[in-house]
Amino acid sequence: MGTGETATHGWIIDAYGDYDRDAMVLWLWNEQGAHRIEDPRFLPTFFLHAPPSELPAIRRRIEILDGVREVREVDRRIALEDEDPRPVLEIVPRHYRDIHGVAHILDSNGGYLDHRLFNVDLRFSQRYAMERGIFPMGLVRYANGRWTPEEEHFALDYPLPPLRRSLLDIHVDNPMGMPRMQDRLLGARVDEDAVDGDEESILKGIGELVRSKDPDVLLTDGGDAFTMPYLARKAAELGADLQLGRDPERFAERKGKSYFTYGKIVYKPGQYILRGRLHLDRGHFAYRESDFAGLAELSRLSTLTPQEQARLTPGTAITAMQVNQAHRDGCLVLWKKNRPEEFKSAEDLLRGDRGGFIFEPEVGLHEGLYELDFFALYPSIMVSCNISAETLDCPCCRLDGRAVPDLRYRLCTRRLGLIPRVLKPVIERRRYYKRMKGEPGPLQEVYRGRDTILKWLLVTCFSADTLVPYRFGEDYRIDRIDAIVDRYLPDRAGVAECRGELRVFGYDADLHPVEKRVAKVVKAPAPRELLKV
Ligand SMILES: [Zn+2]
Repeated sequence: MGTGETATHGWIIDAYGDYDRDAMVLWLWNEQGAHRIEDPRFLPTFFLHAPPSELPAIRRRIEILDGVREVREVDRRIALEDEDPRPVLEIVPRHYRDIHGVAHILDSNGGYLDHRLFNVDLRFSQRYAMERGIFPMGLVRYANGRWTPEEEHFALDYPLPPLRRSLLDIHVDNPMGMPRMQDRLLGARVDEDAVDGDEESILKGIGELVRSKDPDVLLTDGGDAFTMPYLARKAAELGADLQLGRDPERFAERKGKSYFTYGKIVYKPGQYILRGRLHLDRGHFAYRESDFAGLAELSRLSTLTPQEQARLTPGTAITAMQVNQAHRDGCLVLWKKNRPEEFKSAEDLLRGDRGGFIFEPEVGLHEGLYELDFFALYPSIMVSCNISAETLDCPCCRLDGRAVPDLRYRLCTRRLGLIPRVLKPVIERRRYYKRMKGEPGPLQEVYRGRDTILKWLLVTCFSADTLVPYRFGEDYRIDRIDAIVDRYLPDRAGVAECRGELRVFGYDADLHPVEKRVAKVVKAPAPRELLKV
């Protein structure tokens, strides 16, 4: 079905920016198949704030840059605690691929000391969803170039498209006991169909099977780490054409990275994202924990596509939801490059209260994710006490704010903070799904998947260097969280049970300090990209 011919009704399963054509590509799924929709009118932008007197001069200097299509002056809020919009420059890059280059030029231009950049790092899928008012895995109507959502964003019950899945598996000669990139390709299977022969005919066979079966989801076991980079390299070496997505993919851009963490080098594989067809690794966290129902739930909430969301931690969905909420509030998101100074104020909340944190005892400690530092309180307490960076010592409640016991801090009683607003619906959903998964019915498994993934969404995460006061047996100590977790998991990521010997200090619902037993510790690598509001 071509673009704009007739009204099209279905679910968005994939979205990405096409950097060659400067257009957004959306894949809309319905009973007739997956339909490609291109939107060249979509222009991603970012913002610059500087003292108003400097804006005209800065604007003139930006307008002459090669990578800039247009600069306009608009009003936006630049901080959550700021009620009033301020004049900022909105910069429209000439091409999609110029956005980061131009941002870096403006950032490294020493001439302006106190200018700051906003909305640089947002994913294209999320930008598009925010601007068009739609979300992935949600029902939409597309007609005459316009999107109309057909569901409430936070609807509790919603239908999911019956996506067709196929499993891709390859057989590699591995004389070293572990397959390597240079080993020979011996065969492959897509579901029950096998191909063999020489490497070239196997590659050809894989492409033909995928094309003829036309699954919506291509599952692998460890596809990001090995299967996909291996096949991409084989295809390049043999000069063979291998296309696994519905649009040609550009694998070469995404390389794996090694990084140093927990005292050793860890290899993080690249991301092998297909276009228009979802490549999901059955080992991806959300898929493993909750099957597709949980992944779709996260994707709807975060507005990140299922392929993107599958490769991120559930906590990233909360961050994305904060960005979405800030956008609806007319507030910009500071670029992370400029962030270290900004963050002190939020951290002060945590440091001030004697280093106390709340852990959910059933789930325990999470680490490796510093993005959720300012979120390090039990979610329902954050909602009931209205805890958020901008509600702390707010100017509107100087005399009558909600006092934090034993501390000099006050919390706002006039305005609901960003974090409570983001968390409240999530907590309500979890409550609903938790109840529904216990009631027999055709959707029981779906409710179970949604409940499981929301449980993980609400887990509080800390960076490896967060200092935590704790009791280990009779020993009272303060250590970095990685030192505490490494007692249990010295050499690997994973989950370990504690036998009651580890206790940490947190707060009850009235913000009074209490000691809590830790049931489990979890160690997970931090996500590659971090974003804070
Ligand atoms: Zn207030």
